[in-house]
Amino acid sequence: MSNKNKHKLHRKEYRHILLQNHAESRIVALREAPSVSRSDKEVIVYQSELDYLSRCILDCPHIETGGQLFGFYAAKGTPVVCYAIGPGPHANHQTAFFNQDIGYLQDIGDILTREYGLQHIGEWHSHHQLGLDRPSSHDAHTMHSSIDSLNLGRFLLCVGTIDGFAAKVNAFAFYENDPAHYSVKWNIKAQPSPYRHVIDDRLGSLLLHPHTLQPRLANMSISRISVAKDADVDYLLRAYNNI
Ligand SMILES: [Zn+2]
Repeated sequence: MSNKNKHKLHRKEYRHILLQNHAESRIVALREAPSVSRSDKEVIVYQSELDYLSRCILDCPHIETGGQLFGFYAAKGTPVVCYAIGPGPHANHQTAFFNQDIGYLQDIGDILTREYGLQHIGEWHSHHQLGLDRPSSHDAHTMHSSIDSLNLGRFLLCVGTIDGFAAKVNAFAFYENDPAHYSVKWNIKAQPSPYRHVIDDRLGSLLLHPHTLQPRLANMSISRISVAKDADVDYLLRAYNNI
């Protein structure tokens, strides 16, 4: 049996809810509300996933692009981003909005959830050079209404921008019953996600990778970087030149 057919057999097990009414950011998520804690001021992420986002963002300097973040919540409620995906082959990229390729997300989300136990914990999209490094009012409205209607409890939205030759990614936390949203800083594990190569190999040709090969980040909002023994410190200093 081909991998593609296996995906189809199990697709019904991954219950997605698709919001049809939001122009900029369609959100697809499991109908499972994670535990809600507002004590966290940071999001844990592996370097490989920020690098991946930067490459996707740099692929599209003049139009929006985006994707989803998969991971879990640590014991005290801090989100942990383990695996990020970019746009699928049929995603709709426009100057001021982005719609993910829903079939792409369903196929990949099914595998990440069912086989690896990861949750869909957030979205990301790029405002490229629009001059807005935070959620638009439309983004905020979409997030709040999605959290309410899908009983998500909480959700992350990461907004990318391009400044010169580098990407910046800002993270924001949204909560149920709270009209505000909160900027959260990156707590970076400066090494590849343990899920990255394993899942890349599993998904194979199903994945659409960014064309840009060289990750470039700058001016990130950082709470902490945990440097691995063999980390490329020069790269980290370039990427996070504001620390
Ligand atoms: Zn936006």
